[in-house]
Amino acid sequence: MTSYKELGLVNTREMFAKAVKGGYAIPAFNFNTMEQMQAIVQAAVETKSPVIMQVSKGARNYANGTILRYMAQGAVEYAKELGCPNPQIVLHLDHGDSFELCKECIDNGFSSVMFDGSALPYEENIAITKKVVEYAHKYDVTVEAELGVLAGVEDEVSAAESHYTRPEEVEDFSKRSGCDSLAISIGTSHGAYKFTPEQCTRDPKTGKLVPPPLAFDILHEIEKRIPGFPIVLHGSSSVPQDEVDTINKYGGKLPDAVGIPEEQLREASKSAVCKINIDSDSRLAMTAAIRKHLAENPSHFDPRQYLKPARENMKKMYIHKIVNVLGSDNKL
Ligand SMILES: [Zn+2]
Repeated sequence: MTSYKELGLVNTREMFAKAVKGGYAIPAFNFNTMEQMQAIVQAAVETKSPVIMQVSKGARNYANGTILRYMAQGAVEYAKELGCPNPQIVLHLDHGDSFELCKECIDNGFSSVMFDGSALPYEENIAITKKVVEYAHKYDVTVEAELGVLAGVEDEVSAAESHYTRPEEVEDFSKRSGCDSLAISIGTSHGAYKFTPEQCTRDPKTGKLVPPPLAFDILHEIEKRIPGFPIVLHGSSSVPQDEVDTINKYGGKLPDAVGIPEEQLREASKSAVCKINIDSDSRLAMTAAIRKHLAENPSHFDPRQYLKPARENMKKMYIHKIVNVLGSDNKL
């Protein structure tokens, strides 16, 4: 058993309470590689922001769970070295799909876990979430649950259709499961293709797709029923068109990739939404920089030559999100 406290990590409890009160949201960035980890830590330190570094099942399969755990420990030490004496870094399991996986992560130094029972029948979702909560709270680990289904594909998580969270269920669910935060479905979606062109309208000036708006009425109804309870938005990348254009210009093929407009996420950050998950935007920033670098420098073959601009580009994106979208800067 390794407690996250020994690693210098923190859970989400205090962080979320402050974010709900303060009208901002904590960034939850997925990571798989050292360059992503470095970019996340540099961005968080420079902006004095708390940060959630999250690991999906896909990341565990790609990088190995043990390595990611030590990278999170390294992230804390790296943040200190960069001049942040008390970094607020959470190591979070994204989309845990069983009690056993959540337990394994809790036993191995994660400070927060998600149990995603959103595809299960309601009572089963409550029962397993509650079991995870009972185990997690023994070690002061916080638990995120999910109600409602997001559409889209990301790692092993996929659903063809979304089902908005039903506001009438949230009070009963949060009370009986004992979860610390709740991921809801109000129209965000996983991946870089959040909406089909048919679901969108086209901006007549730019020809770009404009996605359907988030269901703020449902969010506000949920806030009314569980005032101050920490709400989480998954699938909240904005799929920046300049990165998509760069990828397409240098040999990529991402037609009609579309995300959530940042103005809407900014508005959501001011509500009880206190954790916003961003993964695809980091992937796009990395790939755009690598494609551009290799196209412009065909003789380069040292990975450091193209991973350095990739890291810089991700860091720029993370800082932009923290300062201009989530408002979590200067909160340490
Ligand atoms: Zn998700």
